[in-house]
Amino acid sequence: MISVAEARARLYGLATPLPVETVPLAQAAGRILARDVAATRDQPPFAASSMDGYAVKRAEVELHAMFKVIGEAAAGHGFGGQVGPGQAVRIFTGAPIPDGADFVVIQEDVTVRGEVITITDAPGAKDNIRPAGGDFRAGDTVTAPRRLRPADIALLAAMNIPAVPAARRPQVALISTGDELVMPGQDPGPDQIIVSNTFGLKALLEAEGAQARILPIARDRASSLETAFLLARDADLIVTIGGASVGDHDLVAGVAEGLGMDRAFYKVRMRPGKPLMAGQLAGASMVGLPGNPVSTMVCGHIFILPMLRRMMGLTDCDPRPLTGRLAAPLSANGPREHYMRARIADDGLIAFPSQDSSLLGILAEADALILRPPEDGPRDAGDTVFYLPL
Ligand code: AMP
Ligand code: MG
Repeated sequence: MISVAEARARLYGLATPLPVETVPLAQAAGRILARDVAATRDQPPFAASSMDGYAVKRAEVELHAMFKVIGEAAAGHGFGGQVGPGQAVRIFTGAPIPDGADFVVIQEDVTVRGEVITITDAPGAKDNIRPAGGDFRAGDTVTAPRRLRPADIALLAAMNIPAVPAARRPQVALISTGDELVMPGQDPGPDQIIVSNTFGLKALLEAEGAQARILPIARDRASSLETAFLLARDADLIVTIGGASVGDHDLVAGVAEGLGMDRAFYKVRMRPGKPLMAGQLAGASMVGLPGNPVSTMVCGHIFILPMLRRMMGLTDCDPRPLTGRLAAPLSANGPREHYMRARIADDGLIAFPSQDSSLLGILAEADALILRPPEDGPRDAGDTVFYLPL
């Protein structure tokens, strides 16, 4: 058996980086920037007023000083002339500071009479001017790789970058296996259950930036599984669910090998999960996940999402545990890394009493997976632990 970290390292080895495409900025949120991009201009491109008021010479600013208003500067419409001694230009937020002025007295600090303003409230030392290039300068970069957040998109727009290089979205084919499975909305026979894993995984992987396709359920027959693999052949990553063990009806390994998969089979020292199969099949990466619904979803978080991140060009791909306090004690852990379903209460983390890997109801209520290292001793309320938010 290998550790989770070791299994993940081997999966990274199977995750081929995807080609880069150009994505319009309006569609780029959440995408992974593939190359550094540089601003093509300064922002602001000129010294600009940060307030509505009057642009004057700083040296003349004092209580009771009077100025003659000689013109106006609004956003998008600068004042063409020069501000001389005793003169002021009416100015609005975002307008260029006129030549000759180096201070904006806010309108609240002046009294206006006709064309003359008087400073009637002490303006203080703040000039209310945003310097040219104060936000960023031409040549400043947004560095790759980086997942583009809404604030990045706003920054890139301001930098006048209308489209960005990003890795193509990973195409993932999801194959459920099992004679007992029917699709949601269908009429299950007396021995059947409804497929859940491919739906949960699709949601999980798409939230990370992939495009996932749910293929028809493969029955526990070699020919049915072969058909499913055939339908999956244009995917970047094929994920099978179930049939990954060594039971009589666990066919995935044999069929994939028969189709030429260069197979690696890992027993991973973890709960839930354990059996995991991976390899390369006709140009695609293939991962076989265990079928128990919670195992599938947990393996999705700790193996498949990191693989997708690697395929999309990120370098920092491991899940990032946070630290939190336990609100309730935990008994000692066994020899396998345990990802315990827990909820985050006001006073800390509380593991659910049942950690059975078939219980989707509990997984859906869980906010976190508490990470227990192998042979972790008993833990008290108040202890600090690592957890992955869900
Ligand atoms: P297996 O790994 O095929 O032995 O499946 C383990 C358990 O997970 C069995 O109870 C299956 O019925 C269940 N299972 C397998 N695949 C799915 C699926 N796609 N959706 C829901 N349950 C599944
Ligand atoms: Mg099965």
